[in-house]
Amino acid sequence: MADGVLGHLPPSALELAYLVAAIFFIQGLRDMTHPRTATRGNLISSGGMFLAVLATVLYFEILSPVLLAASLLVGGAVGAWLAVSVETTEMPQLVGLFNGFGGGASTLVAGAELVDAVDPATTASLGLELTTTAAIAGIVGTVTFFGSLVAAGKLHGLVGDSPIQGRTNQVMQALFFAAAVLAGLFLIVQSGLLGEAPVAEWLPAYWALVAAAAIFGILLVYPIGGADMPVVIALLNSMSGLAAATTGFVLDNTALIVAGTLVGAAGLILTFIMCDSMNRSLTNVLFGSMAEGGDEDMEDIYEGNITETSPEEVEMMLDAAERVVIVPGYGMAVAQAQHAVAELADLLEETGVDVEFGIHPVAGRMPGHMNALLAEADVDYEQMRELESVNPTFSQTDVVIVTGANDVVNPSAKEDEGSPIAGMPVLEVWDARSVIVNKRSLSPGFSGIPNPLFAKDNTSMLFGDAKQSMQDLVDAYNENH
Ligand code: NDP
Repeated sequence: MADGVLGHLPPSALELAYLVAAIFFIQGLRDMTHPRTATRGNLISSGGMFLAVLATVLYFEILSPVLLAASLLVGGAVGAWLAVSVETTEMPQLVGLFNGFGGGASTLVAGAELVDAVDPATTASLGLELTTTAAIAGIVGTVTFFGSLVAAGKLHGLVGDSPIQGRTNQVMQALFFAAAVLAGLFLIVQSGLLGEAPVAEWLPAYWALVAAAAIFGILLVYPIGGADMPVVIALLNSMSGLAAATTGFVLDNTALIVAGTLVGAAGLILTFIMCDSMNRSLTNVLFGSMAEGGDEDMEDIYEGNITETSPEEVEMMLDAAERVVIVPGYGMAVAQAQHAVAELADLLEETGVDVEFGIHPVAGRMPGHMNALLAEADVDYEQMRELESVNPTFSQTDVVIVTGANDVVNPSAKEDEGSPIAGMPVLEVWDARSVIVNKRSLSPGFSGIPNPLFAKDNTSMLFGDAKQSMQDLVDAYNENH
Protein backbone atom coordinates (compact mmCIF):
# COMPACT_ATOMS: atom_id res chain seq x y z
CA MET A 1 0.00 0.00 0.00
CA ALA A 2 2.80 2.39 0.95
CA ASP A 3 4.27 2.75 -2.51
CA GLY A 4 3.58 6.44 -3.20
CA VAL A 5 5.96 9.37 -3.49
CA LEU A 6 7.01 8.83 0.14
CA GLY A 7 6.27 5.13 -0.05
CA HIS A 8 9.89 4.13 0.12
CA LEU A 9 10.13 5.71 3.58
CA PRO A 10 9.29 3.59 6.59
CA PRO A 11 5.73 3.90 7.92
CA SER A 12 7.23 5.83 10.82
CA ALA A 13 7.59 8.83 8.43
CA LEU A 14 3.83 8.96 8.09
CA GLU A 15 3.36 8.51 11.83
CA LEU A 16 5.86 11.32 12.44
CA ALA A 17 3.89 13.64 10.14
CA TYR A 18 0.71 12.71 12.06
CA LEU A 19 2.43 13.37 15.39
CA VAL A 20 3.52 16.84 14.25
CA ALA A 21 -0.03 17.47 12.95
CA ALA A 22 -1.47 16.41 16.33
CA ILE A 23 0.87 18.83 18.15
CA PHE A 24 -0.31 21.59 15.77
CA PHE A 25 -3.97 20.73 16.48
CA ILE A 26 -3.45 20.86 20.25
CA GLN A 27 -1.46 24.11 20.15
CA GLY A 28 -4.05 25.61 17.75
CA LEU A 29 -6.90 24.69 20.06
CA ARG A 30 -5.03 26.15 23.01
CA ASP A 31 -4.57 29.45 21.14
CA MET A 32 -8.25 29.52 20.24
CA THR A 33 -9.21 29.84 23.91
CA HIS A 34 -8.35 33.55 23.81
CA PRO A 35 -9.49 36.09 21.21
CA ARG A 36 -6.03 37.64 21.06
CA THR A 37 -4.39 34.39 19.90
CA ALA A 38 -7.40 32.85 18.12
CA THR A 39 -6.31 33.84 14.60
CA ARG A 40 -2.89 32.30 15.15
CA GLY A 41 -4.61 29.18 16.55
CA ASN A 42 -6.69 28.87 13.40
CA LEU A 43 -3.61 29.13 11.20
CA ILE A 44 -1.65 26.58 13.24
CA SER A 45 -4.54 24.08 13.21
CA SER A 46 -5.07 24.55 9.46
CA GLY A 47 -1.33 24.01 8.96
CA GLY A 48 -1.58 20.75 10.94
CA MET A 49 -4.52 19.57 8.84
CA PHE A 50 -2.73 20.50 5.62
CA LEU A 51 0.31 18.48 6.72
CA ALA A 52 -1.83 15.46 7.68
CA VAL A 53 -3.75 15.51 4.39
CA LEU A 54 -0.61 15.98 2.32
CA ALA A 55 1.27 13.18 4.11
CA THR A 56 -1.70 10.78 3.71
CA VAL A 57 -2.25 11.55 0.06
CA LEU A 58 1.44 11.29 -0.85
CA TYR A 59 2.20 8.25 1.29
CA PHE A 60 -0.66 6.14 -0.01
CA GLU A 61 -0.45 7.65 -3.50
CA ILE A 62 -4.18 8.29 -3.43
CA LEU A 63 -4.01 10.95 -6.14
CA SER A 64 -1.59 11.79 -8.92
CA PRO A 65 0.37 15.04 -8.35
CA VAL A 66 -1.70 16.83 -11.02
CA LEU A 67 -4.99 15.69 -9.52
CA LEU A 68 -3.71 16.58 -6.05
CA ALA A 69 -2.74 20.11 -7.12
CA ALA A 70 -6.07 20.56 -8.94
CA SER A 71 -8.04 19.36 -5.88
CA LEU A 72 -6.12 21.69 -3.57
CA LEU A 73 -6.76 24.56 -5.96
CA VAL A 74 -10.48 23.90 -6.31
CA GLY A 75 -10.96 23.22 -2.57
CA GLY A 76 -8.89 26.27 -1.64
CA ALA A 77 -10.83 28.48 -4.07
CA VAL A 78 -14.21 27.35 -2.69
CA GLY A 79 -12.94 27.92 0.87
CA ALA A 80 -11.60 31.38 0.02
CA TRP A 81 -14.84 32.31 -1.76
CA LEU A 82 -16.90 31.23 1.28
CA ALA A 83 -14.60 33.10 3.67
CA VAL A 84 -15.01 36.34 1.73
CA SER A 85 -18.64 36.13 0.67
CA VAL A 86 -20.41 34.75 3.78
CA GLU A 87 -21.49 37.48 6.21
CA THR A 88 -20.39 37.01 9.82
CA THR A 89 -24.06 36.87 10.79
CA GLU A 90 -24.41 33.81 8.52
CA MET A 91 -21.40 32.06 10.03
CA PRO A 92 -23.43 29.68 12.28
CA GLN A 93 -25.19 28.24 9.21
CA LEU A 94 -21.84 27.78 7.52
CA VAL A 95 -20.39 26.08 10.60
CA GLY A 96 -23.53 23.92 10.62
CA LEU A 97 -22.91 22.90 7.00
CA PHE A 98 -19.23 22.16 7.69
CA ASN A 99 -20.23 19.93 10.61
CA GLY A 100 -22.70 18.17 8.33
CA PHE A 101 -20.14 17.55 5.60
CA GLY A 102 -17.74 16.11 8.19
CA GLY A 103 -20.46 13.70 9.36
CA GLY A 104 -21.48 12.79 5.80
CA ALA A 105 -17.85 12.10 4.86
CA SER A 106 -17.49 9.75 7.85
CA THR A 107 -20.58 7.80 6.78
CA LEU A 108 -19.31 7.42 3.21
CA VAL A 109 -15.76 6.49 4.22
CA ALA A 110 -16.98 3.88 6.74
CA GLY A 111 -19.32 2.39 4.09
CA ALA A 112 -16.59 2.37 1.44
CA GLU A 113 -14.17 0.68 3.84
CA LEU A 114 -16.72 -2.08 4.53
CA VAL A 115 -17.25 -2.68 0.80
CA ASP A 116 -13.50 -2.63 0.25
CA ALA A 117 -12.83 -5.14 3.03
CA VAL A 118 -15.06 -7.78 1.51
CA ASP A 119 -13.31 -10.54 -0.36
CA PRO A 120 -15.94 -12.19 -2.59
CA ALA A 121 -13.81 -15.35 -2.76
CA THR A 122 -14.24 -16.08 0.96
CA THR A 123 -16.89 -15.64 3.59
CA ALA A 124 -14.33 -14.86 6.30
CA SER A 125 -15.42 -12.58 9.12
CA LEU A 126 -14.53 -8.89 8.76
CA GLY A 127 -13.75 -8.72 12.46
CA LEU A 128 -15.48 -6.96 15.31
CA GLU A 129 -13.33 -3.82 15.25
CA LEU A 130 -14.07 -2.87 11.65
CA THR A 131 -17.77 -3.65 11.71
CA THR A 132 -18.45 -2.07 15.12
CA THR A 133 -16.58 1.15 14.36
CA ALA A 134 -18.13 1.33 10.89
CA ALA A 135 -21.63 0.95 12.37
CA ILE A 136 -20.96 3.67 14.98
CA ALA A 137 -19.40 6.01 12.40
CA GLY A 138 -22.35 5.35 10.07
CA ILE A 139 -24.96 6.22 12.69
CA VAL A 140 -23.19 9.25 14.22
CA GLY A 141 -22.06 10.59 10.82
CA THR A 142 -25.52 10.31 9.26
CA VAL A 143 -27.30 11.89 12.25
CA THR A 144 -24.74 14.71 12.09
CA PHE A 145 -25.20 15.21 8.34
CA PHE A 146 -29.00 15.35 8.30
CA GLY A 147 -29.29 17.12 11.67
CA SER A 148 -26.84 19.78 10.49
CA LEU A 149 -28.71 20.34 7.22
CA VAL A 150 -31.92 20.96 9.18
CA ALA A 151 -30.10 23.23 11.70
CA ALA A 152 -28.45 25.27 8.93
CA GLY A 153 -31.78 25.50 7.09
CA LYS A 154 -33.48 26.73 10.26
CA LEU A 155 -30.86 29.37 10.99
CA HIS A 156 -31.07 30.55 7.38
CA GLY A 157 -34.85 30.78 7.55
CA LEU A 158 -35.36 28.03 4.92
CA VAL A 159 -36.80 25.46 7.32
CA GLY A 160 -39.79 26.34 9.47
CA ASP A 161 -41.39 24.69 12.50
CA SER A 162 -41.84 20.93 12.59
CA PRO A 163 -45.40 19.67 12.14
CA ILE A 164 -44.51 16.69 14.38
CA GLN A 165 -43.93 17.81 17.97
CA GLY A 166 -44.04 16.51 21.54
CA ARG A 167 -44.74 12.89 22.44
CA THR A 168 -45.40 11.73 18.82
CA ASN A 169 -42.01 13.04 17.80
CA GLN A 170 -40.28 11.42 20.76
CA VAL A 171 -41.85 8.03 19.98
CA MET A 172 -40.82 8.30 16.32
CA GLN A 173 -37.29 9.33 17.36
CA ALA A 174 -37.05 6.28 19.62
CA LEU A 175 -38.30 3.95 16.85
CA PHE A 176 -35.88 5.16 14.20
CA PHE A 177 -32.96 5.23 16.62
CA ALA A 178 -33.76 1.65 17.65
CA ALA A 179 -34.01 0.66 13.96
CA ALA A 180 -30.55 2.15 13.27
CA VAL A 181 -29.04 0.32 16.26
CA LEU A 182 -30.68 -2.99 15.27
CA ALA A 183 -29.37 -2.66 11.70
CA GLY A 184 -25.92 -1.98 13.18
CA LEU A 185 -26.15 -5.08 15.42
CA PHE A 186 -27.24 -7.20 12.46
CA LEU A 187 -24.23 -5.93 10.53
CA ILE A 188 -21.83 -6.66 13.39
CA VAL A 189 -23.20 -10.16 14.07
CA GLN A 190 -23.46 -11.20 10.41
CA SER A 191 -20.17 -9.90 9.12
CA GLY A 192 -18.14 -9.20 12.23
CA LEU A 193 -18.79 -12.36 14.24
CA LEU A 194 -20.18 -15.09 11.99
CA GLY A 195 -18.70 -14.02 8.69
CA GLU A 196 -20.66 -16.74 6.94
CA ALA A 197 -23.28 -14.76 5.10
CA PRO A 198 -22.56 -13.62 1.56
CA VAL A 199 -22.09 -9.87 0.99
CA ALA A 200 -25.53 -9.36 -0.46
CA GLU A 201 -27.09 -10.36 2.83
CA TRP A 202 -25.37 -7.94 5.16
CA LEU A 203 -24.37 -4.88 3.12
CA PRO A 204 -27.97 -3.59 2.85
CA ALA A 205 -27.95 -3.51 6.68
CA TYR A 206 -25.43 -0.66 6.50
CA TRP A 207 -27.67 1.33 4.17
CA ALA A 208 -30.73 0.53 6.32
CA LEU A 209 -28.74 1.88 9.28
CA VAL A 210 -27.95 5.04 7.28
CA ALA A 211 -31.62 5.52 6.28
CA ALA A 212 -32.91 5.07 9.85
CA ALA A 213 -30.20 7.36 11.28
CA ALA A 214 -31.05 10.00 8.63
CA ILE A 215 -34.71 10.10 9.70
CA PHE A 216 -33.67 10.10 13.38
CA GLY A 217 -31.31 13.06 12.71
CA ILE A 218 -34.09 15.05 11.05
CA LEU A 219 -36.61 14.22 13.80
CA LEU A 220 -34.03 15.18 16.45
CA VAL A 221 -33.32 18.70 15.18
CA TYR A 222 -36.55 19.65 13.35
CA PRO A 223 -38.66 20.40 16.46
CA ILE A 224 -35.89 22.36 18.22
CA GLY A 225 -36.15 26.03 17.62
CA GLY A 226 -35.72 29.54 18.85
CA ALA A 227 -33.06 30.28 21.35
CA ASP A 228 -31.86 26.66 21.58
CA MET A 229 -30.26 26.50 18.13
CA PRO A 230 -26.73 27.55 19.24
CA VAL A 231 -26.58 24.56 21.57
CA VAL A 232 -27.63 22.25 18.75
CA ILE A 233 -24.92 23.59 16.43
CA ALA A 234 -22.28 23.09 19.13
CA LEU A 235 -23.53 19.55 19.81
CA LEU A 236 -23.51 18.65 16.11
CA ASN A 237 -19.97 20.00 15.95
CA SER A 238 -19.02 17.62 18.71
CA MET A 239 -20.77 14.73 16.94
CA SER A 240 -18.92 15.43 13.69
CA GLY A 241 -15.70 15.03 15.71
CA LEU A 242 -16.92 11.77 17.22
CA ALA A 243 -17.85 10.44 13.76
CA ALA A 244 -14.41 11.42 12.42
CA ALA A 245 -12.62 9.79 15.37
CA THR A 246 -14.59 6.54 14.90
CA THR A 247 -13.80 6.62 11.18
CA GLY A 248 -10.17 7.01 12.26
CA PHE A 249 -10.50 3.60 13.96
CA VAL A 250 -12.13 2.16 10.83
CA LEU A 251 -9.18 3.33 8.75
CA ASP A 252 -6.58 2.83 11.48
CA ASN A 253 -5.57 6.45 10.97
CA THR A 254 -3.98 8.19 13.98
CA ALA A 255 -4.36 11.75 12.67
CA LEU A 256 -8.10 11.30 12.17
CA ILE A 257 -8.52 9.77 15.63
CA VAL A 258 -6.64 12.67 17.28
CA ALA A 259 -8.34 15.44 15.24
CA GLY A 260 -11.79 13.87 15.69
CA THR A 261 -11.35 13.43 19.43
CA LEU A 262 -10.22 17.05 19.84
CA VAL A 263 -13.21 18.34 17.85
CA GLY A 264 -15.54 16.04 19.77
CA ALA A 265 -14.26 17.14 23.18
CA ALA A 266 -14.08 20.86 22.29
CA GLY A 267 -17.61 20.74 20.84
CA LEU A 268 -18.95 19.01 23.94
CA ILE A 269 -17.35 21.57 26.27
CA LEU A 270 -18.84 24.39 24.17
CA THR A 271 -22.24 22.63 24.23
CA PHE A 272 -22.25 22.66 28.04
CA ILE A 273 -21.04 26.27 28.21
CA MET A 274 -23.91 27.25 25.89
CA CYS A 275 -26.43 25.21 27.94
CA ASP A 276 -25.27 27.03 31.07
CA SER A 277 -25.59 30.40 29.32
CA MET A 278 -29.20 29.62 28.52
CA ASN A 279 -29.95 27.77 31.76
CA ARG A 280 -31.15 24.71 29.88
CA SER A 281 -30.07 21.12 30.39
CA LEU A 282 -28.96 19.28 27.26
CA THR A 283 -31.78 16.72 27.60
CA ASN A 284 -34.24 19.55 27.91
CA VAL A 285 -32.90 21.21 24.74
CA LEU A 286 -33.02 17.99 22.73
CA PHE A 287 -36.15 16.30 23.99
CA GLY A 288 -38.12 19.00 25.77
CA SER A 289 -39.93 21.83 24.09
CA MET A 290 -39.62 25.53 24.82
CA ALA A 291 -42.18 26.74 27.32
CA GLU A 292 -45.03 28.64 25.73
CA GLY A 293 -44.62 32.39 25.56
CA GLY A 294 -45.62 34.55 28.55
CA ASP A 295 -49.24 35.54 28.83
CA GLU A 296 -48.70 39.24 28.34
CA ASP A 297 -48.54 40.38 24.76
CA MET A 298 -46.45 43.24 23.45
CA GLU A 299 -49.17 45.89 23.53
CA ASP A 300 -49.95 45.25 27.22
CA ILE A 301 -46.31 45.79 28.10
CA TYR A 302 -45.40 48.67 25.80
CA GLU A 303 -48.65 50.73 25.54
CA GLY A 304 -48.00 54.16 27.07
CA ASN A 305 -44.76 53.04 28.72
CA ILE A 306 -42.19 53.74 26.01
CA THR A 307 -39.93 56.79 26.31
CA GLU A 308 -38.22 57.84 23.11
CA THR A 309 -34.95 59.76 23.08
CA SER A 310 -32.64 61.45 20.55
CA PRO A 311 -28.88 61.42 19.97
CA GLU A 312 -28.65 64.95 21.41
CA GLU A 313 -30.38 63.92 24.65
CA VAL A 314 -28.20 60.84 24.98
CA GLU A 315 -25.12 62.99 24.43
CA MET A 316 -26.15 65.14 27.40
CA MET A 317 -26.55 62.04 29.58
CA LEU A 318 -23.13 60.80 28.51
CA ASP A 319 -21.67 64.20 29.28
CA ALA A 320 -22.61 63.81 32.92
CA ALA A 321 -21.60 60.16 33.16
CA GLU A 322 -18.55 58.74 34.94
CA ARG A 323 -19.10 55.13 34.00
CA VAL A 324 -20.70 53.82 30.79
CA VAL A 325 -21.27 50.19 29.77
CA ILE A 326 -22.00 49.36 26.13
CA VAL A 327 -23.96 46.13 25.52
CA PRO A 328 -23.83 44.96 21.90
CA GLY A 329 -26.06 42.33 20.30
CA TYR A 330 -27.03 40.80 17.00
CA GLY A 331 -28.20 44.17 15.58
CA MET A 332 -24.68 45.60 15.92
CA ALA A 333 -23.44 42.74 13.73
CA VAL A 334 -26.18 43.22 11.12
CA ALA A 335 -25.56 46.97 10.94
CA GLN A 336 -21.76 46.50 11.05
CA ALA A 337 -21.77 49.19 13.72
CA GLN A 338 -18.68 47.96 15.60
CA HIS A 339 -16.38 50.71 14.27
CA ALA A 340 -18.83 53.49 15.20
CA VAL A 341 -19.33 51.86 18.61
CA ALA A 342 -15.56 51.68 19.17
CA GLU A 343 -15.18 55.33 18.09
CA LEU A 344 -17.82 56.41 20.61
CA ALA A 345 -16.07 54.42 23.35
CA ASP A 346 -12.73 56.06 22.49
CA LEU A 347 -14.26 59.56 22.58
CA LEU A 348 -15.81 58.91 25.98
CA GLU A 349 -12.56 57.51 27.35
CA GLU A 350 -10.65 60.54 26.09
CA THR A 351 -12.90 62.75 28.23
CA GLY A 352 -12.25 60.63 31.32
CA VAL A 353 -15.33 58.39 31.25
CA ASP A 354 -14.78 54.78 32.33
CA VAL A 355 -16.11 52.67 29.43
CA GLU A 356 -16.58 48.90 29.37
CA PHE A 357 -18.42 46.41 27.17
CA GLY A 358 -20.84 43.88 28.65
CA ILE A 359 -20.67 40.71 26.56
CA HIS A 360 -23.28 37.96 26.90
CA PRO A 361 -22.02 34.50 25.86
CA VAL A 362 -24.84 34.03 23.32
CA ALA A 363 -25.17 37.62 22.11
CA GLY A 364 -25.33 37.65 18.32
CA ARG A 365 -25.63 34.43 16.39
CA MET A 366 -22.52 32.46 17.31
CA PRO A 367 -20.23 32.00 20.29
CA GLY A 368 -17.72 34.84 20.52
CA HIS A 369 -19.58 36.85 17.83
CA MET A 370 -19.40 40.16 19.72
CA ASN A 371 -15.79 39.69 20.87
CA ALA A 372 -14.69 39.03 17.29
CA LEU A 373 -16.47 42.12 15.90
CA LEU A 374 -15.22 44.43 18.64
CA ALA A 375 -11.68 43.08 18.28
CA GLU A 376 -11.90 43.84 14.56
CA ALA A 377 -12.67 47.45 15.56
CA ASP A 378 -9.57 47.48 17.86
CA VAL A 379 -11.45 47.43 21.15
CA ASP A 380 -9.14 46.29 23.95
CA TYR A 381 -9.85 42.76 25.24
CA GLU A 382 -9.51 44.10 28.78
CA GLN A 383 -12.56 46.33 28.15
CA MET A 384 -14.78 43.37 27.28
CA ARG A 385 -16.38 42.07 30.48
CA GLU A 386 -18.19 38.76 30.72
CA LEU A 387 -21.68 38.42 32.14
CA GLU A 388 -20.71 37.26 35.64
CA SER A 389 -18.15 40.01 36.11
CA VAL A 390 -20.12 42.91 34.60
CA ASN A 391 -23.51 42.21 36.22
CA PRO A 392 -22.51 43.36 39.74
CA THR A 393 -21.17 46.64 38.25
CA PHE A 394 -24.43 47.85 36.66
CA SER A 395 -25.66 49.37 39.92
CA GLN A 396 -22.60 51.66 39.86
CA THR A 397 -23.06 52.52 36.17
CA ASP A 398 -24.47 55.86 35.04
CA VAL A 399 -25.47 54.97 31.49
CA VAL A 400 -25.83 51.63 29.71
CA ILE A 401 -26.07 51.77 25.91
CA VAL A 402 -27.69 48.62 24.55
CA THR A 403 -27.14 48.50 20.81
CA GLY A 404 -28.84 45.84 18.70
CA ALA A 405 -29.32 43.49 21.67
CA ASN A 406 -32.65 42.23 22.91
CA ASP A 407 -32.99 38.70 24.41
CA VAL A 408 -29.72 38.96 26.32
CA VAL A 409 -31.04 41.98 28.28
CA ASN A 410 -34.61 40.72 28.81
CA PRO A 411 -35.64 40.95 32.50
CA SER A 412 -38.40 38.32 31.94
CA ALA A 413 -35.63 35.73 32.27
CA LYS A 414 -35.40 36.68 35.95
CA GLU A 415 -38.82 38.09 36.70
CA ASP A 416 -41.32 35.88 34.81
CA GLU A 417 -41.30 32.19 35.63
CA GLY A 418 -43.63 31.44 32.72
CA SER A 419 -41.34 33.05 30.15
CA PRO A 420 -39.71 30.82 27.50
CA ILE A 421 -36.35 32.23 28.58
CA ALA A 422 -37.02 31.92 32.34
CA GLY A 423 -33.79 31.21 34.21
CA MET A 424 -31.49 32.18 31.33
CA PRO A 425 -28.67 34.33 32.73
CA VAL A 426 -29.06 37.86 31.32
CA LEU A 427 -27.19 41.16 31.55
CA GLU A 428 -29.04 43.03 34.30
CA VAL A 429 -28.68 46.43 32.66
CA TRP A 430 -31.82 47.81 34.35
CA ASP A 431 -29.80 48.17 37.59
CA ALA A 432 -27.96 51.13 36.00
CA ARG A 433 -29.08 54.72 36.52
CA SER A 434 -30.17 55.11 32.88
CA VAL A 435 -30.51 52.63 30.05
CA ILE A 436 -30.49 53.61 26.38
CA VAL A 437 -31.79 50.89 24.05
CA ASN A 438 -30.85 51.41 20.42
CA LYS A 439 -32.74 49.36 17.83
CA ARG A 440 -34.97 50.12 14.86
CA SER A 441 -38.35 49.28 16.40
CA LEU A 442 -40.00 47.39 19.25
CA SER A 443 -39.73 44.12 17.31
CA PRO A 444 -38.71 41.08 19.32
CA GLY A 445 -35.32 39.36 19.12
CA PHE A 446 -34.43 35.78 18.23
CA SER A 447 -36.69 34.15 20.83
CA GLY A 448 -39.71 36.10 19.56
CA ILE A 449 -40.92 37.42 22.93
CA PRO A 450 -41.56 40.98 24.18
CA ASN A 451 -38.96 42.71 26.33
CA PRO A 452 -40.23 44.59 29.43
CA LEU A 453 -36.86 46.40 29.64
CA PHE A 454 -38.10 48.80 26.94
CA ALA A 455 -40.98 49.87 29.20
CA LYS A 456 -38.97 50.39 32.40
CA ASP A 457 -38.89 53.88 33.95
CA ASN A 458 -35.13 54.29 33.54
CA THR A 459 -35.08 53.10 29.91
CA SER A 460 -35.19 55.37 26.86
CA MET A 461 -35.43 54.05 23.31
CA LEU A 462 -33.08 55.46 20.68
CA PHE A 463 -34.77 54.17 17.53
CA GLY A 464 -32.66 53.70 14.43
CA ASP A 465 -30.09 51.56 12.65
CA ALA A 466 -27.21 50.79 15.03
CA LYS A 467 -24.47 52.12 12.75
CA GLN A 468 -26.33 55.33 11.97
CA SER A 469 -27.33 55.90 15.60
CA MET A 470 -23.81 55.33 16.93
CA GLN A 471 -22.46 57.66 14.25
CA ASP A 472 -25.06 60.28 15.27
CA LEU A 473 -23.90 59.95 18.89
CA VAL A 474 -20.26 60.35 17.82
CA ASP A 475 -21.20 63.49 15.83
CA ALA A 476 -23.25 64.92 18.70
CA TYR A 477 -20.39 64.24 21.14
CA ASN A 478 -17.83 65.80 18.80
CA GLU A 479 -19.95 68.92 18.37
CA ASN A 480 -19.92 69.61 22.10
CA HIS A 481 -16.32 68.74 22.94
P1 NDP B 1 -31.68 39.34 19.52
O1 NDP B 1 -31.83 38.45 18.35
O2 NDP B 1 -32.40 39.01 20.75
O3 NDP B 1 -32.10 40.84 19.13
C1 NDP B 1 -31.44 41.54 18.15
C2 NDP B 1 -32.14 42.85 17.95
O4 NDP B 1 -31.36 43.58 17.01
C3 NDP B 1 -33.52 42.72 17.33
O5 NDP B 1 -34.53 42.85 18.30
C4 NDP B 1 -33.57 43.82 16.26
O6 NDP B 1 -34.60 44.75 16.58
C5 NDP B 1 -32.21 44.50 16.40
N1 NDP B 1 -31.64 44.84 15.11
C6 NDP B 1 -31.62 44.13 13.96
N2 NDP B 1 -31.02 44.82 12.99
C7 NDP B 1 -30.65 46.00 13.54
C8 NDP B 1 -29.99 47.14 13.02
N3 NDP B 1 -29.57 47.21 11.75
N4 NDP B 1 -29.75 48.17 13.86
C9 NDP B 1 -30.17 48.13 15.16
N5 NDP B 1 -30.80 47.07 15.68
C10 NDP B 1 -31.04 46.01 14.87
O7 NDP B 1 -30.11 39.49 19.76
P2 NDP B 1 -29.23 39.27 21.07
O8 NDP B 1 -27.84 39.44 20.60
O9 NDP B 1 -29.71 40.11 22.19
O10 NDP B 1 -29.50 37.78 21.48
C11 NDP B 1 -29.07 36.71 20.70
C12 NDP B 1 -30.19 35.72 20.51
O11 NDP B 1 -29.80 34.85 19.46
C13 NDP B 1 -30.42 34.89 21.73
O12 NDP B 1 -31.79 34.54 21.83
C14 NDP B 1 -29.58 33.65 21.44
O13 NDP B 1 -30.01 32.52 22.14
C15 NDP B 1 -29.80 33.51 19.95
N6 NDP B 1 -28.74 32.82 19.24
C16 NDP B 1 -27.44 32.98 19.63
C17 NDP B 1 -26.44 32.28 19.00
C18 NDP B 1 -25.03 32.39 19.51
O14 NDP B 1 -24.28 31.41 19.41
N7 NDP B 1 -24.63 33.53 20.00
C19 NDP B 1 -26.73 31.40 17.81
C20 NDP B 1 -28.13 31.38 17.43
C21 NDP B 1 -29.07 32.07 18.15
P3 NDP B 1 -35.20 45.71 15.45
O15 NDP B 1 -35.69 44.82 14.37
O16 NDP B 1 -36.27 46.45 16.16
O17 NDP B 1 -34.09 46.61 15.00
